[in-house]
Amino acid sequence: MKMMTLDIQMFAVPFRKVSKTRKRMRRSHNAMEVPGMAKCPSCGEVIKPHRVCTKCGNYKGKKVVEVKEAE
Ligand SMILES: [Zn+2]
Repeated sequence: MKMMTLDIQMFAVPFRKVSKTRKRMRRSHNAMEVPGMAKCPSCGEVIKPHRVCTKCGNYKGKKVVEVKEAE
């Protein structure tokens, strides 16, 4: 019975026994993902979607939160 043709390493393997190609294939999924970002329609600031803009306090084109200038 030979079902697992993709020999997935379940435990530590000496690094010389893992080829450059196999190491790189494994690490192809390790990169950080860019989080989803949207632009505020009223001020153009990059914001997270479905959240009130932290710069101008607008959401869906309406002012919902009063933003105080921090500086
Ligand atoms: Zn805004």
